[in-house]
Amino acid sequence: MKYEVVIGLETHAELDTESKLFCGCSTKFGSEPNTQTCPVCLGLPGVLPVMNKKAFGHSLKAAVALHCEINQFTNFDRKSYYYPDLPKNYQTSQNYFNIGDNGYVDMVVAGKGKRIDIHNVHLEEEAGKLIHPEASDAKYSLVDFNRAGVPLLEIVTQPDMRSIEEVESYMQTLRNILLYIGVSDCKMQEGSLRFEASVSLREHGSTVFGNRVEIKNLNSMKAVSKVLAYEISRQSNMLDDGKEVLLETRLWDEADGVSRRMRTKEDAHDYRYFPEPDLVPFSINQEWIDETKATIPELPVSRRQRFVDELSVSDYDAGILTEDKFLADYFEECVAISQDSSKEFSNWIINDVLRELNDRKINVQDFVVSPKMLAELVKIKPTIGSSIAKEVFAEMINTGKSASAIVKEKDLTQMDDTSELNDIVIKIIEENPKAVEDYGLGKKNALAFLIGQTMKITKGKANPKILTELFTQRLSSISK
Ligand code: ADP
Ligand code: MG
Ligand code: ZN
Repeated sequence: MKYEVVIGLETHAELDTESKLFCGCSTKFGSEPNTQTCPVCLGLPGVLPVMNKKAFGHSLKAAVALHCEINQFTNFDRKSYYYPDLPKNYQTSQNYFNIGDNGYVDMVVAGKGKRIDIHNVHLEEEAGKLIHPEASDAKYSLVDFNRAGVPLLEIVTQPDMRSIEEVESYMQTLRNILLYIGVSDCKMQEGSLRFEASVSLREHGSTVFGNRVEIKNLNSMKAVSKVLAYEISRQSNMLDDGKEVLLETRLWDEADGVSRRMRTKEDAHDYRYFPEPDLVPFSINQEWIDETKATIPELPVSRRQRFVDELSVSDYDAGILTEDKFLADYFEECVAISQDSSKEFSNWIINDVLRELNDRKINVQDFVVSPKMLAELVKIKPTIGSSIAKEVFAEMINTGKSASAIVKEKDLTQMDDTSELNDIVIKIIEENPKAVEDYGLGKKNALAFLIGQTMKITKGKANPKILTELFTQRLSSISK
């Protein structure tokens, strides 16, 4: 590629609180439209906002976790614009004194560390939601104010990303951090986490940035990757043709797979920011900052390293395990219960648990097989063998029963009584002279065939190791 890609990201995360930012209305997702509103979040005259302490605390926590400098004096500003989903005609946000400035996120891209600087972290309120009827000739749109006033955290990066891969890693890492510190559920399908991407190109080696294009309202990480790929090729074609890329805001059209101009710089909004007169300024004392610091759990990047150093998990596996806080918790619980077997559990989780979660499109928190149940399965695995253990696992998912209950019910305990197996081996050898002859002729498949026959009779319960030993002993004595 002829040009260097420069990308910055703005992330909006709805904060996990029971009530809205300035009133007591519920933030519950998916209720009947306009059932969670009051004069405050509808912007009726004469009302006054009251700050939600939990939302403020969550913002502080995010700013601390993102290594920001905390502004001990912070206040809110009115960002004025007219839109039907914004009943007050201004959004209460922060412009001059954000909760946090100048932080960073450390991430891993293709095995290498990279730091993305955070410009600022600030707190603001959500707008409502417009609902446009499906019928193209409908002459109206509807508005749902349930979302209006839900606390929203905005996290703005510096233009530090240089590839789509870095953007993907940043989004994933940031999402993990927010989940780890428990400030947002980050459910993209419910709009709890959204992105806006700014992208520009410049000649390699250039020290000035090119004009950026901002793409708004990206509801999934996939959409971010797709629109960036589209924009990078669109801008690079323009530059190749000697055209100037305009400073503009575009929207991503998912259905057509193109970005479209929304507005250019000339008609950019003048938000007329000024300090919100209805809210007092806030001071955050050092004690609160220190208390907050103490509540930040181990973050994914260091947790990954610890899994490698202390639990002998490969770096690749540790990356997968720590990508989801709850999956990492699940893994650690398993290891804690059995006080070992970390390799065994990481295999089960990465291969089997994740496959089931993906197939079922569920989170590990909702998975029927609890860490305790998986630990029990791993414990009894030596008595049933690997292939039966897989069957038991599937049965545990279907029935919710414990491994030992299933093994008992289905009589699945592995046969590893040598003399009992020896009798069967003798019988199988007698019944399959052709295979025995083949074995004598050096055909390796013959052994596998004989073991297969034995497994059929024993319903897979014969201990394969003992079986192999018995067959090779006996067959070699025959062929002599
Ligand atoms: P504004 O104040 O107009 O919103 P900012 O300078 O705050 O603009 O930048 C908004 C976003 O755009 C940030 O995420 C930033 O990293 C990114 N950005 C700024 N300049 C560029 C550029 N030249 N190319 C790509 N991204 C940029
Ligand atoms: Mg912005
Ligand atoms: Zn309200």
